[in-house]
Amino acid sequence: MRFLVIGGAGYIGSHFVREALRQGHSCDIYDNLSRGHRQSIPEGVRLIEADLLDQERLQAAFAEQPSYDAVFHFAAFALVGESVAQPDLYYRNNTEGVRVLLDVLRDRAPETVLVFSSTCAVFGEPEKLPIAEGDRKQPISPYGRSKLMAEWMMEDYARAYGLKTLALRYFNACGADASGDIGEDHEPETHLIPNVLRLSLAGKPLTIFGRDFTTKDGTCVRDYIHVTDLADAHIRAANYLIAAPKGTFDAIHLGTGEGYSNLDIVKAAGDVLGRSLPYTFGERRAGDPPGLYADNRKAKSLLGFQTRYSDLSTILKSALAWHKHRPDGYRTQR
Ligand code: UDP
Repeated sequence: MRFLVIGGAGYIGSHFVREALRQGHSCDIYDNLSRGHRQSIPEGVRLIEADLLDQERLQAAFAEQPSYDAVFHFAAFALVGESVAQPDLYYRNNTEGVRVLLDVLRDRAPETVLVFSSTCAVFGEPEKLPIAEGDRKQPISPYGRSKLMAEWMMEDYARAYGLKTLALRYFNACGADASGDIGEDHEPETHLIPNVLRLSLAGKPLTIFGRDFTTKDGTCVRDYIHVTDLADAHIRAANYLIAAPKGTFDAIHLGTGEGYSNLDIVKAAGDVLGRSLPYTFGERRAGDPPGLYADNRKAKSLLGFQTRYSDLSTILKSALAWHKHRPDGYRTQR
């Protein structure tokens, strides 16, 4: 198939591109490189360096023939704390960006299906665990709201204009491509797995945020899914949508269904590194719900979703290989 990958130079988008190429599909990347990395783009893959809000440029991408079979949206900002401080960034890039994309699809490429990166942050503090697709949504950050608003627009445009759209709600994306060439590189890095690995390589202790949550050991519980498993699920999602009737909108959870606490992650990282890792406890981080893990039965039944790389050991080993290869991320010269 022929794919347009918006945000294809970012962390999850770049892993999607690698996996799609391995599975024999062709990809064009549409990215403004504001947070993505040019070095993550494989040789021979075309980059359209442009902003999603540039409607004319996006229209021009869809004017080419043959048109794309599917478009993937990985181009959102995704830091909860930043979204609280600068909600304008989030409503413009994440919400308005999707509206522009939907208008372009309606006008220029109504046959092209849309697979959208959404998030379990649309639930806020979930009413129950594991979280199922239909559970009550009460996002508590501008980030979660910006994504839920995008989902609503996708649903409304599907119904009104016959588009086919799917929101994939991720849990905690992590790990790195088996090639070792690409991986996680955010500035600043706020995520647990890259932080625990990078700090331990630098001989520094991790700060665990909070120790008095209502969980088995007092630290937060999350559902960690390897980016390559996420990538494979996106290709399945495109196939599912292509076979679906016009006007389809759906939302599907992508997680393993297993919850691990922050202390579990520190212990598993120590096992991979062959030593116990130092840590201290700090204050709770604002907005962190105690537990988040997925009910993934819908992904299994509708997409045939399966995980191949999402056991903690494979996640941590793949991420470690990347951090060792490029200790300063893409800034490390090769
Ligand atoms: N966390 C931590 N120390 C860090 C980074 C993260 O204790 O240096 C905790 C964070 O408070 C949360 C969990 O690790 O409980 C997962 O956080 P992450 O930012 O990786 O993902 P999130 O679930 O917030 O999307």
